[in-house]
Amino acid sequence: MSQTDMEVFQELESEVRSYCRSFPAVFTKAKGYKVWDIEGNEYIDFFSGAGALNYGHNDEEMKQALVDYILNDGITHSLDMATDAKGTFLRKFHEVILQPRALNYKVMFPGPTGTNTVESALKLARKVTGRTDIMSFTNGFHGMTIGSLSVTGNLAKRKGAGIPLTNVVTMPYDDYVSEVDTLDYVERFLCDRGSGMELPAAAIVETVQGEGGINVARTEWLQRLASICKEHEILLIIDDVQAGVGRTGTFFSFEEAKIVPDIVCLSKSIGGYGLPLALTLIRPDLDVWSPGEHNGTFRGNNHAFVTATAALTYWENEEFMSTVKEKATHIENFLKKLVVHYPTIEGEVRGRGFMVGIRSNVAGLSSRVAAAAFKRGLIMETSGAEDEVFKLFPPLTIDEEGLEKGLALLEESVQEVTK
Ligand code: PMP
Repeated sequence: MSQTDMEVFQELESEVRSYCRSFPAVFTKAKGYKVWDIEGNEYIDFFSGAGALNYGHNDEEMKQALVDYILNDGITHSLDMATDAKGTFLRKFHEVILQPRALNYKVMFPGPTGTNTVESALKLARKVTGRTDIMSFTNGFHGMTIGSLSVTGNLAKRKGAGIPLTNVVTMPYDDYVSEVDTLDYVERFLCDRGSGMELPAAAIVETVQGEGGINVARTEWLQRLASICKEHEILLIIDDVQAGVGRTGTFFSFEEAKIVPDIVCLSKSIGGYGLPLALTLIRPDLDVWSPGEHNGTFRGNNHAFVTATAALTYWENEEFMSTVKEKATHIENFLKKLVVHYPTIEGEVRGRGFMVGIRSNVAGLSSRVAAAAFKRGLIMETSGAEDEVFKLFPPLTIDEEGLEKGLALLEESVQEVTK
């Protein structure tokens, strides 16, 4: 295949394709934070598969575990039957992640992707409470199937398909209206019989909104949301599909706020190697599913269990976590200097840990920065309802050299668009 074969995609693939338009190259290889296209051009990956590659590409330990499993004819497809690979993952997840954090959840495998875990969480909340409405938040993003899309606050994504906010009440996220505690509004709505609001089954929220523009909910806001939910017996669902698995600096993004959600949605990097895997973590007393009530053919990919188990080894290594924090501080300091140095971008640094970006108040500028970066060999995405944020998602495993190179390319790109 040659570079001109980009035409293949134009001719044969649906118009719905998106990332290949922002990153117009045919990719062939990847290792760690580096990606190569078919012409041999090298790129630094500050995108990480939209948060699915927190450990970088083709991690050696995970690759070896997967190769060994395949060479041993380890079972690949098994619906939700009990397999050795699944059992090993469950035990290790419990020992390495849940137990040390004193978290007690049953693990459900809802289907291969992020949207599947959200769907299962919404369904379960309705079943447990007998209520139908769900509280979601402005700028939230939860997936592309009808249920998860209905709680997604992005009109452009819903409009064409005619997905209304049926049985959904959208409330203002933290900082949506500056200087106002938006939870005052939520509480008022819940208590005021004149609001016409039915008591919702659940509130679904991201602690940091990834697609919505790297909007960070403050610790106090999350704690207050958790206590409002408790008071009104509304289940709290944390959608950690993007912010989880270390992206914000801790395994779960809600750890810092010390809240304990009733249901947690995980996907993207939980599979470790870029393989599809999703988990719904359920407070044990809420696990009221009847057998087979949420079924599916691909719930539990044994290859993903193998790589996910290998990935958990990172979480046994304290040095890994402390270097992640150090690198995150370095990125934040760099971005803070960048916005001061280039005032014409009218930039504001946003984010937490390795989930960071710059919001520019200049229309279209963030997309121009991302496009300029790609030409220089830096893969970086934009987010927000108007693509107003350029988003930096390096792999957590990136080394100093890769980080410095990537940040230098970012600065050159900003310089270019502000010339
Ligand atoms: N929830 C959040 C917070 C997400 O960021 C995403 C994907 N960007 C999803 C759910 C949906 O995940 P998937 O694309 O794997 O269905």
